[in-house]
Amino acid sequence: MTDNNFTDTIPLPFLEQTDDSHYTKVIAGPCSAESETQVLDTARALSKLGIKVFRAGLWKPRSNPRTFEGVGIAGLPWLQRVKQETGMLIATEVANREHVEVALKAGVDVLWIGARTSTNPFAVQEIADSLRNCEDATVLVKNPVTPDIELWIGALERVYNAGVRKIGAIHRGFTTYGNHLYRNMPEWRIAIEMKRRFPSLPILCDPSHMGGRRIHVPTLSQQALDMGFDGLFIESHCNPSVALSDAEQQLSPGELEELLNSLIVRHTTQSTDSIDALRMAIDECDDELVELLNRRMRISREIGMYKKEHDLQVVQTNRFDEILNKRMTQAQSLGMSPRFMKSVMSEIHEESVRQQIEILNSK
Ligand code: PEP
Ligand code: MN
Repeated sequence: MTDNNFTDTIPLPFLEQTDDSHYTKVIAGPCSAESETQVLDTARALSKLGIKVFRAGLWKPRSNPRTFEGVGIAGLPWLQRVKQETGMLIATEVANREHVEVALKAGVDVLWIGARTSTNPFAVQEIADSLRNCEDATVLVKNPVTPDIELWIGALERVYNAGVRKIGAIHRGFTTYGNHLYRNMPEWRIAIEMKRRFPSLPILCDPSHMGGRRIHVPTLSQQALDMGFDGLFIESHCNPSVALSDAEQQLSPGELEELLNSLIVRHTTQSTDSIDALRMAIDECDDELVELLNRRMRISREIGMYKKEHDLQVVQTNRFDEILNKRMTQAQSLGMSPRFMKSVMSEIHEESVRQQIEILNSK
């Protein structure tokens, strides 16, 4: 199957930078619309910052059914007021046919498909079918909760196949088990691969759901800009501490302003001699790395032959623990992240095991 390359998509006008005083390629607003006052207070403050698209969730896909699940259609008139009063475009999440129909009828300008929904092709297809004959709609598709790039592309393609051409992707990170620094793992390489495969498809980063806590939002936002994302999708609430959902990750409009003032937009086209030299040095390191890995795998296969002859098991956990501990300590003493070293060594070990199993099973 060849990729649909999304080359005839229509650029999203709100991703044009118009204000030089700070970064404005931002969709912002509360996680959930909670009341008319909360929606309007937040919207007025964001509009003053030059935000052009206001987000607010009406139907909230919550893991826990005992938590706030959104006000539903009751919030549509509040969003309409935002649009009338501030001139901002309005955006909300849709998860089924009914959501699409009522949102479009109420004049919602930007629809987004949430991470839980984009995981389910039946739900996405239902949304796509309800968008047929609505060629003018703008639809953003969040990555599915699992790090499955084909599922994400498939969701975008379903919407595209319904005739929608104003589309974009939102990278919000991937769910994983246990407590980690971020609520959802960035796995930036997946977003970078999207950019590589579909250069004309706009991709925004949602640092709020990725980070899960407001202290992480600035770092993740800057990293996203450095990686060439086309815009940001940020949760902002007039009073985050009393928010009914995602209280820990929402920024007040003041905090958002501070963030937008601090972001540095780098110019991708400028290349200097010194960066070329550094890139050559990196290429040399990579050559050495690949050669070293090849040497290591050859030795590992020799060990595999030995294990086969002596009827030994391939995986010896003590030995792997010893390798991991040694290299993580070494990494730390060199000022590198032990966690990074752990993941590098785990990948290498996994490939060695795979090769040794091949040898054990060969005739
Ligand atoms: C949201 O944007 O409020 C939301 C529910 O996000 P996600 O689908 O990324 O979890
Ligand atoms: Mn949220």
